[in-house]
Amino acid sequence: MNPTIPDTTVDEIRFSDLGLAQPLLDALHDAGYSAPTPIQREAIPLALRGRDLIGLAQTGTGKTASFTLPMVQRLLGGPRRTRVLVLTPTRELCLQVEESVQKYSKYAPVDCIPVYGGVGYEPQEKALRRGVDVVVATPGRLLDHLEKRNVDFTYLETLVLDEADRMLDMGFAPQLNRIVEQIPRYRQTLLFSATMPPEVEALGRKYLRKPVVVQVGRRSSAATTVTHAVYPVPRHRKNDLLVHLLTAADHDSVLVFTRTKSGADRVVRDLERAGVHAGAMHADKSQKDRVKALDDFKSGKLRVLVATDIAQRGLDISGITHVINFDVPQQPEDYVHRIGRTGRAASTGDAYTFMSAEEIGMVRTIERTIGQEIPRVSVPGFDFGT
Ligand code: AMP
Repeated sequence: MNPTIPDTTVDEIRFSDLGLAQPLLDALHDAGYSAPTPIQREAIPLALRGRDLIGLAQTGTGKTASFTLPMVQRLLGGPRRTRVLVLTPTRELCLQVEESVQKYSKYAPVDCIPVYGGVGYEPQEKALRRGVDVVVATPGRLLDHLEKRNVDFTYLETLVLDEADRMLDMGFAPQLNRIVEQIPRYRQTLLFSATMPPEVEALGRKYLRKPVVVQVGRRSSAATTVTHAVYPVPRHRKNDLLVHLLTAADHDSVLVFTRTKSGADRVVRDLERAGVHAGAMHADKSQKDRVKALDDFKSGKLRVLVATDIAQRGLDISGITHVINFDVPQQPEDYVHRIGRTGRAASTGDAYTFMSAEEIGMVRTIERTIGQEIPRVSVPGFDFGT
């Protein structure tokens, strides 16, 4: 049995209550999302109705899906023309939005291309000229293409400005103006921003029509309350590093994630041997044992709980000070979920990830997904090559 308790059970709103079509619900099911996040609950129905929207939300809140889901739905069955443009400040975010469109359009094919600077121009030109439903772009490179008439926005219906505050910080205001001038006035505009300085407000007044403002709190945001660190360590020294970290500093309650059940048991054995009281939680444990481990962890009897992915989603344990990814999560989404267990409710938490040489690529993918680099911390004697 899966002990998952989705974050959002409180008011039991499901994706199917938001007006999303079956192909999207199927894709969400495949993605393993059980319930919409607050920004999704608020923004999706409004966006589906064609309203202009200002979403005040940052990375980690599920904001990307809150605009890509309605966008894909509105494209269903329509003519093959460029009907949506998403502008993002960075190449990382551009790729992340594109990935998200691919994910949600699994059963409702949509053509989407990312367009950003620093890479070959011609493949983008070819793709744009062939025609696509959705263009996700950084402003500078898109403007180049517009000036060369590689792309035609005559039929554009929806404009999304993602991380508008960052785009302005990066000095993209003139480019944004020149791009928006070439887009039909009669359109839907969605603006997302983590903050609302006067410049962003002004942008909203200029580009949006009677927008609804949706604001969500900072809960479980990957960017704010959690301090991330990656520890490079050879695979065979991970156990030693864990014992070292747990005995060197005061870690009150630590949730450790391992990839496999046997891995979890091994870690518990090693910790117990080193005098650290730990319990395991995975699918091979009886329900009774799992409940007991969780109770002991919550009451503070158990300092360390070692869990596999099954125990991960929705496990809402307040007061966790540390999450340690003993193995790098296979899916970037899992990283966000795992560290969502710490740093809740404005408390701060640390998220450490042990990275062996084989896992470097996976960490890079995670960094692209969360849109930030995670600092590397080397512990003398445990780093690669020792
Ligand atoms: P974002 O805030 O858009 O960067 O999304 C943060 C992460 O949450 C991404 O990895 C998404 O795949 C994931 N995510 C988005 N919506 C949900 C949901 N309703 N349930 C679980 N995870 C989600």
